[in-house]
Amino acid sequence: MKLELHWKIIIGLILGLLFGVTAASQGWGGFTNDWIAPFGKIFINLLKLIAVPLVLSSLITGVASLSDLKKLSRIGGKTITIYITTTAIAVTIGLIAVNILEPGSTVPEDMKIKLQNTYQSAASGKLEAAQEVKERSVLQPVVDIVPSNFFSSASNNRNMLQVVFVAIIIGIALIQIPKEKSRPVLEFMEGINDLVIKLVDNIMLLAPIGVFALIADTITSVAGNNINNVIELLSALGFYMLAVIMGLVIHMLITYSVVLKLFSKMSLKKFYQGIAPAQLLGFSTSSSGATLPVTMERCEDELGVSEEVSSFVLPLGATINMDGTALYQAVAAVFIAQTLGMDLSIVAQLTIVLTAVLASIGTAAVPGAGIIMLVIILEAIGVPSAGIALILGVDRILDMMRTVTNVTGDASVAVAVASSENQLRI
Ligand code: ASP
Repeated sequence: MKLELHWKIIIGLILGLLFGVTAASQGWGGFTNDWIAPFGKIFINLLKLIAVPLVLSSLITGVASLSDLKKLSRIGGKTITIYITTTAIAVTIGLIAVNILEPGSTVPEDMKIKLQNTYQSAASGKLEAAQEVKERSVLQPVVDIVPSNFFSSASNNRNMLQVVFVAIIIGIALIQIPKEKSRPVLEFMEGINDLVIKLVDNIMLLAPIGVFALIADTITSVAGNNINNVIELLSALGFYMLAVIMGLVIHMLITYSVVLKLFSKMSLKKFYQGIAPAQLLGFSTSSSGATLPVTMERCEDELGVSEEVSSFVLPLGATINMDGTALYQAVAAVFIAQTLGMDLSIVAQLTIVLTAVLASIGTAAVPGAGIIMLVIILEAIGVPSAGIALILGVDRILDMMRTVTNVTGDASVAVAVASSENQLRI
């Protein structure tokens, strides 16, 4: 019997978990770091390697195949509207969860001091990174979308929006030049596109091993050589984690189901079965950027989203649509305020909604980016940003979960937009 890909990945994940816990409790952290972690790194590098050519080739062919440019702006408008609406809903769910559960009142006094002392230096690194973001002018993010040199944007996956921008203007210009001139360029791009999609398939054969190594490494890095550290952290911050995880689950179950129901006829079973490998990868890599090639492949091949829609909606989503991150930022901001004994007014909570939506748009699709932008939210509501020391210990675990939500959100919007444009096969 041939096992489906997501089962193979789940097996890799469980074995990684078992190995990681054993390694942390037996003091094999060094061994894991030297001999296991590199396989995870290789796997992530392979995924990142193909992200730029994939986005470029599929978006150029996608845009150039549009008959009129009005369609492009219509698809763009719809996509961004659904992205922002779902993110605002996510933040609201997070705020409700954290206000009801009040996890901040459950952390013992001695644990607060211990957490702040242990994570103080790690927190100051994040504060510096946030300061750099804050010093940028308001329009800088828009300026950043337009590169001055294409090769420098293509050489860094963080510049994915620049690649998207270049692909769109090339696609538009291809529509405008005579057919006999554009045909060879398009045929070349289509060839590249097929090639890259085959590469994604081949790389995914390594996914179970990659996921095993990534999970084992994450556990030993979080736990150090002492699994008791994790148990202590989990018991002190358990309620905070519960608020985040509950919010994420509710958002995935309710909001995305509504999005799918409103815009398409796709069953939830089909959706989740199709997208599962991308979710599992999001979980193991904590990076929606690294997961992007797989999200695109699954949306096109399994969910039947047209290339034209997926190649526009998904890279854009991986960069700006982060519902999981926004929800987590809202919970974390209120949790820190609660733990420090501060009461947040309704104005402060509304400020959180606004800043969390904006902060999640500005969050890079890489591990640990969400907590840097959290600093900006804390400053906006007058909560001491050094308070992030309280939550740093479990941030990686929550990063895995919020990335799953981020990836799922992008995929559900891709299905919705494709269906509303009659571009959903199957
Ligand atoms: N790791 C998240 C992502 O790539 C971003 C975050 O840190 O929240 O989607």
